[in-house]
Amino acid sequence: MTGRHRVTLIPGDGIGPEVSAAARLVLEATVSGIRWTERHAGSVALAEQGDLLPEETLEAIRESRVAIKGPITTPVGSGFRSINVALRQELDLFAAVRPARSLSGVPTRYGTVDLVVIRENTEDLYQGVEFAAGSPQAETLRDELRRLADFEIRPDAGVTVKPISVAGTRRIVRFAFEYSKANRRRTITLGHKAGIMPTSDGLFLRISREDGIDRGDVGFEDMQIDHLTARLVREPRRFDVLLLPNLYGDIISDLCAGLVGGLGLIPGANIGWEYAVFEPVHGSAPDIAGRGVANPIAMILSGAMMLRHLGEKDGASAVERAVDTVLDRGDVRTQDLGGSSSTMDVAEAIATAVRP
Ligand code: NAD
Repeated sequence: MTGRHRVTLIPGDGIGPEVSAAARLVLEATVSGIRWTERHAGSVALAEQGDLLPEETLEAIRESRVAIKGPITTPVGSGFRSINVALRQELDLFAAVRPARSLSGVPTRYGTVDLVVIRENTEDLYQGVEFAAGSPQAETLRDELRRLADFEIRPDAGVTVKPISVAGTRRIVRFAFEYSKANRRRTITLGHKAGIMPTSDGLFLRISREDGIDRGDVGFEDMQIDHLTARLVREPRRFDVLLLPNLYGDIISDLCAGLVGGLGLIPGANIGWEYAVFEPVHGSAPDIAGRGVANPIAMILSGAMMLRHLGEKDGASAVERAVDTVLDRGDVRTQDLGGSSSTMDVAEAIATAVRP
């Protein structure tokens, strides 16, 4: 297998550098000639360059067009804006694709589950339109809302705005159908809460139903998000592709990870018209960081998704098969899957299995 691809690698923080090194080992064993440019974001970049998302990191991704990144910590409630969200918005990576399939050798309650979450990645409550409680801006917003429509918000309320646009919906719906046709998926289930939020979720639902695109043979249905959640945990095999606005997509991705054996296994891609950034669904796992025990499989499978995106289909399949082989054998696994192997033990076993 040969390849000549430029890839920006952002190791991230927490377990990020550990799983990144593991993925790089496997990808280099699979495809020759990847030219890596390592750049930083998050706390590492802040310490070294005085900037959470340095321009040179964005520039490197714009040049290579493809990046793979480890997770980046977002301190809770600190006012620190999520670098993951900022990166997706800066590069307009509007579609997150997160396949959750049962892996051989990882027993789960439901046997074979094969789901794909397609999450709108730039709008909704994650767009970052925030008004802090008690701030002059929140006060102005309260006055304006009162004037506009007699809405009364409590003076001590913090406010997050939920924008969902026609254009933003249209492109994610088209993406979901294109993805489903290209990957021979059967049905798209859209999750929403349109009854409660008619102007945002309702718009998402209406545009998805009405948009005149070529839907091929792909079926389409919609479901209230709470109902969808209950059914997913009871009968996940009934579902196929899940199309979700940003916040629900974030939550349901983790639920789907739980259905197939945990966060350490689920890869992800953030795709836009121009750039693509691949990353696992899991976060920086501060509780296990620095100990070399994190499961690298989510990051390695994110690497396989990246290879497919780069046109290295054989390489991508080889990595996925090698992951199956190692999990099936069962002798080399990290502690989240009941084993005692290190992150690098797993990576080396997968790298060896790639070249039988
Ligand atoms: P998390 O995914 O980091 O961890 C949740 C639990 O899963 C922890 O017990 C952790 O040990 C376990 N876990 C996660 N990945 C694992 C792996 N590869 N192997 C073994 N166990 C694993 O979620 P969290 O604790 O809510 O978030 C921690 C930080 O990560 C937060 O700052 C959050 O904002 C950030 N985060 C970043 C991203 C990203 O960079 N894309 C995504 C999600 C969360």
